[in-house]
Amino acid sequence: MTSLESTLDALKLHFGDRLSTTEAVREHHGHDMSRQPTRLPDAVVYAESEDEVARVVSACFEAGIPVTPFAAGSSMEGHTIPLKGGISLDLTRMNQIVQVNHEDFDVQVQAGVTRKQLDAHIRDTGLFFPIDPGADASIGGMASTRASGTTAVRYGTMRENVLALRVVTPQGKIITTGRRTKKSSTGYDLTKLYVGAEGTLGVITEVTVKLHPIPETIASAVCAFETMRGAVEAVVATIQSGIPVARIEFLDEVAVEAANRHAGLTLKLAPTLFLEFHGSPRWVEEQSNTVREIADEFGGSDFEWSTRTEDRERLWKARHETIYSNRTLRPGCKAFTTDVCVPISRLAEAVLAAREDIDNSFVIGKIIGHVGDGNFHVGYLIKPEIPEELAEAERLAERLYQRAIDMGGTFSGEHGIGISKLKYLRREHGDAIDMMNAIKAAIDPKGIMNPGKLGQVE
Ligand SMILES: Cc1cc2nc3c(=O)[nH]c(=O)nc-3n(C[C@H](O)[C@H](O)[C@H](O)COP(=O)(O)OP(=O)(O)OC[C@H]3O[C@@H](n4cnc5c(N)ncnc54)[C@H](O)[C@@H]3O)c2cc1C
Repeated sequence: MTSLESTLDALKLHFGDRLSTTEAVREHHGHDMSRQPTRLPDAVVYAESEDEVARVVSACFEAGIPVTPFAAGSSMEGHTIPLKGGISLDLTRMNQIVQVNHEDFDVQVQAGVTRKQLDAHIRDTGLFFPIDPGADASIGGMASTRASGTTAVRYGTMRENVLALRVVTPQGKIITTGRRTKKSSTGYDLTKLYVGAEGTLGVITEVTVKLHPIPETIASAVCAFETMRGAVEAVVATIQSGIPVARIEFLDEVAVEAANRHAGLTLKLAPTLFLEFHGSPRWVEEQSNTVREIADEFGGSDFEWSTRTEDRERLWKARHETIYSNRTLRPGCKAFTTDVCVPISRLAEAVLAAREDIDNSFVIGKIIGHVGDGNFHVGYLIKPEIPEELAEAERLAERLYQRAIDMGGTFSGEHGIGISKLKYLRREHGDAIDMMNAIKAAIDPKGIMNPGKLGQVE
């Protein structure tokens, strides 16, 4: 009997049906939302408590078996694919809200709680959790990918919003990183080390995140522009004027067409900004008027704003679902979706160059973005099974990444590295990669946590 078989047999005694080796369950855990091919784990274990996580990880450490944490599976770059087999550790059943601390504006949740679940739970407290990656991702998964989304321009990313973590280390020990305070200067910041570690340094079991007061008034707005340059320059001018927009999202003409077809909207086919303002009624109106004036200056027209919840929900639903709308543009395609982030002063240049690359290629592509913080997504609508199309998308993506790096930006603002972007990591970080590898080797000496990814770059 191999050590894998004997470890699975031993775990089966405790987990029973919560340890599965069926094809369907392994298949579900063998991919994420990326274009990367599926790779099956040998088994899937559903943990229901921190002790159970520690039990699985200790057993795997003992036997040298790979463990890949798996939550909502919504990551975009192959993060959850168990490259070396082993156990996919499913955390979705660890979904308890541990403690809401209204007076301190924070909440402790188990890692598998999803952001929509958290929002529903705290709605009556007058507080909300702002980070909104579109998908109903888990808080543990969002911490692990250092996620953000449409509201990061105002409220920050997971990096700014995670206060503390409980983590099962690769040896199966349970540690706490951070406190519930706004500040601490006591030692290495292990919380930040785990935020964005993509499951390669241990398993997060509990997360303490900041909450924010629900704004008195929320207004949304849409504005179409004559040109892409005008739309993006209006964003830059808005940010540089210090207007605290809560959301400012760009959709190019192709993305608007996709949103119209998918969500039944009737937006003008033009580069468009979706915006949101938070504050008192007067303050929201003031912000909105100032942005309207800026938009006018850059060729914006039909600036429509509304404080009606249904208008707002319809707009953001359409925005979030643009990722599912690709097939309305090209039936049978799978988007090669990627993201970069540049300093705001280089945004217009970066977006226009990305568009020009697509226009000069035989591949269709669309650009959408959380442009308020310099972050935008490009989706190449390809059929990955056609090698020329995949190679062309890789070529365009590589140009996009290199350009972002050359501008002082990063080749991922929020989706992270997973498998797809590993080969570019050294271009951005240079010799700092050796330090990342050393950290991985020190914390996970047997390399069992999500192997073949971050921390093991050649
Ligand atoms: C429609 C759509 C829109 C999206 N938009 C955005 C966006 O705007 N911004 C953005 O940032 N992302 C976006 N994403 C990507 C995705 O939602 C995020 O990457 C999210 O943070 C992943 O969370 P998850 O729970 O799905 O994690 P998973 O995909 O299950 O896992 C992600 C990674 O984290 C690790 N992991 C998961 N849970 C734990 C844990 N408890 N402990 C340790 N490691 C763990 C996994 O091993 C894996 O490496 C989008 C995805 C979709 C489908």
